[in-house]
Amino acid sequence: MDQRDKEAIREIVGEDHFSDELIDLVSYSYDSSDHDHRPGGVAYPADSEQISRIMQLANERRFPVIPRGAGTSLAGSAVPIQGGLVLDMVRMNRILDIRIPDRQVVVQPGVVYAALQKALAPSGFCFPPDPASGKVCTLGGNVATNAGGIRGAKYGVTRDYVLALEVVLPDGRIMHTGTKCMKSSSGLDTTRIFVGSEGVLGVITEITLKINPMPTAFRTALASFETLRQAGQAVTDIMHSGILPSVLEIMEENTIRVLRENYGADLPDVSALLLVETDGYTDGEAEYGMGKVATAFEANQAKTVSMAKDREEAEKLWAIRRAAGSVAGGLRPNNLSEDVTVPISKVPDLLEGIQKLMVGHKYPFVIFGHAGDGNLHPKIMFDGSDPQQVREVHQIAEQMFKLTCGLGGTLSGEHGIGLAKAPYMHLEHEPLAMEMMRLLKRTLDPNNVLNPGKMALED
Ligand SMILES: Cc1cc2nc3c(=O)[nH]c(=O)nc-3n(C[C@H](O)[C@H](O)[C@H](O)COP(=O)(O)OP(=O)(O)OC[C@H]3O[C@@H](n4cnc5c(N)ncnc54)[C@H](O)[C@@H]3O)c2cc1C
Repeated sequence: MDQRDKEAIREIVGEDHFSDELIDLVSYSYDSSDHDHRPGGVAYPADSEQISRIMQLANERRFPVIPRGAGTSLAGSAVPIQGGLVLDMVRMNRILDIRIPDRQVVVQPGVVYAALQKALAPSGFCFPPDPASGKVCTLGGNVATNAGGIRGAKYGVTRDYVLALEVVLPDGRIMHTGTKCMKSSSGLDTTRIFVGSEGVLGVITEITLKINPMPTAFRTALASFETLRQAGQAVTDIMHSGILPSVLEIMEENTIRVLRENYGADLPDVSALLLVETDGYTDGEAEYGMGKVATAFEANQAKTVSMAKDREEAEKLWAIRRAAGSVAGGLRPNNLSEDVTVPISKVPDLLEGIQKLMVGHKYPFVIFGHAGDGNLHPKIMFDGSDPQQVREVHQIAEQMFKLTCGLGGTLSGEHGIGLAKAPYMHLEHEPLAMEMMRLLKRTLDPNNVLNPGKMALED
């Protein structure tokens, strides 16, 4: 981007809505991963027309454009790795329509996840995916990364709720996908192409989401197990018992130790904990589900079981799980936090496999995650200022990805590929599948101007 490009962008978005001040360029060179690269400028567009004009300019002048929500990507997806213009969607933050009788909302991409939940609460509805970053991340970012959360086993991920999109294509054309109906079997599914596309195929400018009535009754329990296999079998038994728990979280022995020693949690010295929540629209429904869970705990010789009597007691159990990531993260200056995912029955294999990989390494690590949908979060702590540690930790990560894919798993259950996992795409996707992804990218973005360098889409 040169001065001429910057002037043209200022003219499109207005003088006050473009910056190339050093402080902004440094801020926008990061997301929440350990990657960084400075952009040439940042624009704050007001609508799809402005974005369309920017994309036309970017094609004429051949500079990269990187859509950005809140910059909470853990995969480097929002880092402007080849410079260019960051498009911060913060001004496009309006909830356009809440249509309860249709079970739908229409939002702009810069709406923060929690703001939508707050707006929906009085009507008793919610948008269920619930990413842990929900207080800050945007719905545009959620759609672009197919974000998920702790309730995925029962309620699925963002993809399951996106009905229609408005997208500015890389050449500036404005496209409308999908339907305002709850279902449609009409034509190829152009909406899903953009869900999880990490801003490489188009800039999402309007989103129509399906919403759910909010459950009103909950039961929560925490159980400990002497062996990982017992916990794994309890997960299998719960999933076979005819109910779907709304939360089914697992924490292995390192996580438990870190929580005991560094957070003061009153936890037994065991190999695994399961935190389970059942929900419903009546107490009886939630209670019935928890009865099945209790049977699975007993059948697998749970060492201790804490059943929360009310929301206050449940909150204490939740606090333990929520603390796991940040308490462990504080052990060293840096951490590598992954979201590898396997079929539910393979969770114990993945846990044991990662534990074996770490034998002989000096790095503290913890593993916890969503056993109910097979999504684990291994976290390895290290000092990023030491190049040897960085190298070693990335070697461990590569082995972990090989292990995951060998178990029939996926590199990313929720964070996306971005820069961090681009080198490993071939472990999961066969050459023909990679070629199809590249073909789609080339067809929509022949000049490779939209978020280039991500997801191994360049030959
Ligand atoms: C503490 C913490 C906890 C987290 N917990 C979870 C979790 O539980 N579940 C989960 O899924 N993720 C989680 N994440 C990761 C992250 O929050 C999600 O990936 C989130 O969806 C990103 O939203 P964002 O608005 O920050 O997007 P950004 O990080 O700004 O962007 C992410 C990607 O989306 C693209 N993008 C953003 N907006 C648009 C748009 N309008 N059009 C096209 N492309 C766009 C960007 O180009 C980029 O490729 C967590 C991150 C942190 C830091």
